[in-house]
Amino acid sequence: MPDLESMRHSTAHVMAAAVQRLFPGTRLGVGPAIENGFYYDLDVPRRLTPEDLAAIEAEMARLVAAAVPFEREELSLDDAIRLFEERGEPYKVELLRDLRERGTTRLGAKGEEEVDIDPRNASTASIYRTGDYVDLCLGPHVVDTSQIGPFKLTSIAGAYWRGDEHRPQLQRIYGTVWPTAEQLEQYLWRIEEAKRRDHRRLGRELRLFFFDEAAPGQPFMLPRGMTVLRVLEALSRQEQARRGYQEISTPSLVKSDLWEQSGHWGYYRENMFTSEVEDEQYAFKPMNCPESTVVYRSETRSYRDLPLRLAETTRLLRNERSGTLNGLLRVRQLTMDDAHIYCRPDQIQSEIAGVLEFGRVVYDLFGFPRRYYLSTRPDKALGDPALWEQAEAALAEALRASGIPYELKPGEGAFYGPKIDVDIDDALGRSWQLATIQLDFNLPERFQLEYIGEDGQPHRPVMIHRAIYGTYERLLGILVEHYAGAFPLWLAPVQAVVIPVADRHLPYAEDVAARLRAADLRVEVDARGERMQAKIRDAQLQKIPYMLVVGDKEAEAGAVAVRERSGENRGPLPLDDFLALARERLQKYE
Ligand SMILES: [Zn+2]
Ligand SMILES: [Zn+2]
Repeated sequence: MPDLESMRHSTAHVMAAAVQRLFPGTRLGVGPAIENGFYYDLDVPRRLTPEDLAAIEAEMARLVAAAVPFEREELSLDDAIRLFEERGEPYKVELLRDLRERGTTRLGAKGEEEVDIDPRNASTASIYRTGDYVDLCLGPHVVDTSQIGPFKLTSIAGAYWRGDEHRPQLQRIYGTVWPTAEQLEQYLWRIEEAKRRDHRRLGRELRLFFFDEAAPGQPFMLPRGMTVLRVLEALSRQEQARRGYQEISTPSLVKSDLWEQSGHWGYYRENMFTSEVEDEQYAFKPMNCPESTVVYRSETRSYRDLPLRLAETTRLLRNERSGTLNGLLRVRQLTMDDAHIYCRPDQIQSEIAGVLEFGRVVYDLFGFPRRYYLSTRPDKALGDPALWEQAEAALAEALRASGIPYELKPGEGAFYGPKIDVDIDDALGRSWQLATIQLDFNLPERFQLEYIGEDGQPHRPVMIHRAIYGTYERLLGILVEHYAGAFPLWLAPVQAVVIPVADRHLPYAEDVAARLRAADLRVEVDARGERMQAKIRDAQLQKIPYMLVVGDKEAEAGAVAVRERSGENRGPLPLDDFLALARERLQKYE
């Protein structure tokens, strides 16, 4: 059995070969194996449509049935360049020339790292032949095409050559391949399910939010979406207050001087929206950190004041390029559950442990499994190496003492400090980065932050940036998909809808709603002139946890007939009993 990655990459070759057979003149970009499958970036003479995928699959199936061997050859770089020149493959030639001239095909920060060439062996190139097809490739590959498992081509997208928008746009064909038909089917189901759960679609259907051309990358929040956000905010505030955080709010439009001092003006300016006010340069804040230091500096701080935990939930603006915007997952207007903790170096470990515990409490409520990563000192780092060492040890010890297994990412910390990242898995097993806990030696230095130590001397505090949710926008998007729109009772924007059987039951329905609202439940009355069954169906489509049907019997008995969104019918309950039931579930965050 070939390993999955080489089978996936081999399938990419077979797909490219099939496209070249069907569309002569197709030139090869790069085609790596990726999570769950593979892609190939191809310069095809005409624009492909989803209808073309079936023909390409059929051609691939013929190649697979023919059991064509994968044959490896080693060539000198010059011979390889000649070969691909003859074959009319300018992209491969470009990669080979880069390799010959620079010893690497790696681009700057913007470009994708090419995966097809062995950087350890830069004097020769290996190629793979599969019948008439020739690819520049490191391998390994399966022995022959018959070892390729059940596959499916899934989509076509545009992709700039080497990730550069000034270079030609190629067509990227994505596909997936698995050892068994059952695994393929399961994977395809997960894709379909992800589409069904797409937060942009559900956001509209459930009347949570929508996007409009009037403001790209910025959601219009509807009352129900706002309600979910308010519940999340209330939870965050409650947990912060319990842990000694204090909330501040700092201005949105800030003079460029502050951004120059923080360094953002130098390295982050293209992501900032700027404005001129009375001949002075301002920028809309893309993050809260520099202003948090203004608050810190507003008073003389003593070692007794530390740790100082300043939380802030204000709106940020980031100039993300329109091509990168993606529903609530990448927006231009965002709201973080941000906090900055100022502490002494000897407090790092306990503060980190506190943040980890905070995260655990919150993620447990959503049922998110999570993975932790500790990123350490990069080659180019700012600050005293001894302080780095102490900080990294404190982070590792906080993780260990909290009983949290983690993966080490050596050298992947920011230049200004080590960090802990937390990824969560949603209900479909998809991974998202939510939280980050970031130590910072840089801003305290740049802003000359001080506290007066026990020795009466000024000392430099350490700054910890931390978010538990990340941004509210992104979290809402993730939660909508995680729950497929069926929020648990405590998060549901409407927890119960009261449905009168006939118009004459409307006064009682209003009475029920008023009593439940007085007990802080979020309740609506469906007073429309529709039939009861239609109202029940609509409430189910809106994924409202409880439907309370009221007719003559219920009005007389002071009761409600309780139906759940799952369709389960609990029958009539005295109103007080229903209230007690709901309260009990809410207390348990069900
Ligand atoms: Zn290859
Ligand atoms: Zn920050």
